[in-house]
Amino acid sequence: MEFHGDYHMHTQYSDGRATVADMVEAARLKGLTEVGIADHGPANICTGVKNSNTFLKIKEETKYLAGHFPQLKIKVGAEADIVGLKGELDITREVIEELDYLLVGLHPYVMPVNAETAWNYVLGNQLVKIKKGLREKVKNINTKTLIDTLYKYDVLAVTHPGLKMDIDFQELAKVCIKTDTALEINTGHTFPKVDDIIQIADSGVNFIVNSDAHFPETVGEFDYGRYVLNKAKVTEERVLNATSG
Ligand SMILES: [Zn+2]
Ligand SMILES: [Zn+2]
Repeated sequence: MEFHGDYHMHTQYSDGRATVADMVEAARLKGLTEVGIADHGPANICTGVKNSNTFLKIKEETKYLAGHFPQLKIKVGAEADIVGLKGELDITREVIEELDYLLVGLHPYVMPVNAETAWNYVLGNQLVKIKKGLREKVKNINTKTLIDTLYKYDVLAVTHPGLKMDIDFQELAKVCIKTDTALEINTGHTFPKVDDIIQIADSGVNFIVNSDAHFPETVGEFDYGRYVLNKAKVTEERVLNATSG
């Protein structure tokens, strides 16, 4: 399986090491035809962008870069954080409408919108490491919150589902199908694991393979995705960024 675009990478505007131009140039060198910048939302503690408007700034930069990279389609998205138990995100609706696409990821260290979210979601995902009895409860909260987000927003894909924050893959896959959302296979984190993908391979859910690159060297790195999809016998029609034919 071959891939034409990488839609999940970070720049210096969040916790990436390189500029937007560096990452775009790396995509060109890898021979991709599309590239998408998706920095962390502002609620991601220590690693997020300054505020929602940073995404508009990135968009302006890419407009300028487009003239220098005629063979490459440059898109701007975001990796938004869930900050409330009703599926609220940390990027304003106005800015989301300006983006080319929206990714959503569960991250353990975010600034929650209220105390209830802080207690059940942020703290819950820390406590579960020492209190195994909480596992099912926290897993249900994570899954429900993510599902609520998918009904609330038009999300292209869920990034690294299950990474550091347990979720119910089967429940999530069902809602992804209903809401036309893909599940990401993240080559940077080599996650989800093969067994997770195998258990939902027959559900009919779509996938996308992304690098989650934080520096130019790993842009367009798809090997892990190719390996997992092959093991799970998922064909290219179900992979958003696979090159068909
Ligand atoms: Zn992430
Ligand atoms: Zn990321």
